Amino acid sequence: MIVYFNGEFLPEEEVRISPNDRGFMFADGVYEVVRSYEGHLFRLDEHLVRLKRSLEALRIESPELASISLICRELVDRNRMARLEALIYLQITRGAYRRVHSFPPPDVRPTVYAQVSELHPAEEEATVGIEVILVGDTRWSRCDIKSLALLPNVLAAEEARERGAREALFVRDGMVIEGSRSNFAGVRSGTLVTPPETNYMLSGISRGVVIELCGGLGIPVEQRPIPQRELLRFDELLLIGTSAEVLPIISVEGREVGNGQVGPTAKLLKRAFREAVEEARRR
Ligand code: PLP
Repeated sequence: MIVYFNGEFLPEEEVRISPNDRGFMFADGVYEVVRSYEGHLFRLDEHLVRLKRSLEALRIESPELASISLICRELVDRNRMARLEALIYLQITRGAYRRVHSFPPPDVRPTVYAQVSELHPAEEEATVGIEVILVGDTRWSRCDIKSLALLPNVLAAEEARERGAREALFVRDGMVIEGSRSNFAGVRSGTLVTPPETNYMLSGISRGVVIELCGGLGIPVEQRPIPQRELLRFDELLLIGTSAEVLPIISVEGREVGNGQVGPTAKLLKRAFREAVEEARRR
């Protein structure tokens, strides 16, 4: 596996990251995940804009976005993944310096790391649907930053796994916010409902795509808070994200959503999502 590390492409095992790196010490950094569909980096510009926003929020100097885009393309090519589906993981930390909480001097350069891995989409999940659980949202109040500090997400995902579910949805003050690594939406009487973007939620690129697709399909979209007690009143629930694309949720905490089957809107949006990818590739 060839990875990118601070200006070089090299075999993964040759990467040497300092134990003083602030990503390691403080989770002082941000990340992005971009999907490559047979070499096409879907919505790359939007991922880069979000990356820049995350870096600015943490006051970490941003590398040139054009160079990041080249790094992503080069990684796919060097690892011979241009004919496969893959996920590119990109991480930028505040760099390595002796352990002090306040920022290091300006000559300490950010650490930039990127890797690519092959993605095997679980088609079965899209056809039979997935189960989710609910967990209390113990995260901080800047979930809009794609920060490396993911401990509540890690614990939520593990709890889901241990309880046989695919994902955990965070609930804050009685409102369902998003998943540990995904956004979500409900469909009620033909309208797609999804929580609004706030500082408590990551502005998902795929969520944006789904909202756009609804526009084209004539599906009304409502962005409003979704109380936990309303969840099972939806006809359909959907998980949305870069690796999930659009996945139908058929049960919440073991209770059926709608009739417990994959619904028509999930199927329609999944197909439309794939068509949008194909169209982007042709352009
Ligand atoms: N919400 C959280 C907490 C996430 O970690 C992710 C993706 O990693 C998403 C939502 C979905 O975002 P995107 O569609 O940009 O992948």
